[in-house]
Amino acid sequence: MFQDSPVHAVLFYGPQGSGKSELARMLTQYWLCTKPGETGPCDECGSCRSFERGRHVDVLKIEPGGLSYLLRLGQIVPVDGGADDDVPLTTFFRSSAIAGRNKVAVLHDVHRMNADSANALLKTLEEPPKRTKLILTTDSVSSVLPTILSRCVAVACELPKLDELRLAFSDATEDEILLSAGSPGRLQHIINRRKDFAPMLKFLKALPQQPAGASLVLADEYRELCEGIGEKGAVRAANAEGLVILADWLATHNSLGPKATQAAIEAHRRILQNGSAGLVFDSLFTRILAARS
Ligand SMILES: [Zn+2]
Repeated sequence: MFQDSPVHAVLFYGPQGSGKSELARMLTQYWLCTKPGETGPCDECGSCRSFERGRHVDVLKIEPGGLSYLLRLGQIVPVDGGADDDVPLTTFFRSSAIAGRNKVAVLHDVHRMNADSANALLKTLEEPPKRTKLILTTDSVSSVLPTILSRCVAVACELPKLDELRLAFSDATEDEILLSAGSPGRLQHIINRRKDFAPMLKFLKALPQQPAGASLVLADEYRELCEGIGEKGAVRAANAEGLVILADWLATHNSLGPKATQAAIEAHRRILQNGSAGLVFDSLFTRILAARS
């Protein structure tokens, strides 16, 4: 990857936690670096230093947003009445790089695009201005338009096997590795927030032995544990993460059966669709404990 080539667009695809963002970051720095070596960016030039400070003028990050979580047309090309804080991709690419070797635009979750945005992006991919580079990421490559795919170098990212995680995170406990479900990103989060994840682990281990009548108490307890692992003010995101962890845990420790896992996956979906957390958790734990009998 770190060879100079005519490649101007790379798509990193793979499941959440497979390192797409990290690879996108490395490639961005490499394309910006003014003295790149054979193995990557130099880490020393002015361009590398601004990048590491997170203040590089030649980088544009584009992410889906809003309730629909879509990449809007106004993020790709200028539109009438576009949001003030949007710098559209084509506007960004119109001027040449100031400090970097190239201008680099990073578009995350490119499967979250309607046809208008996708066609606008396609035009840029077909005729990229000189010294511009595009990096795309997605965890749903099958939802990316084939015409977009065909104009990118697609790089598959895979979750590392548990043994590789054990080697890479030698300070992680075996329970923490299991809780990560093979995702390095999640394992790092667990290690960073060890104190908050420890009671969650204890809760999950004790779950199969809980009496059926305890479901509402357990629902409240797990909701609190979820809030404990999240960022302040991001309760819904924390609930969603806690439910994914629960679903993965149930799937790998199947003493509660596949119906329990299914219930957790559905609860996660309902939370993402703005369902009431109280109701979602109550019904989830009732179903989990009922699935056991
Ligand atoms: Zn450099």
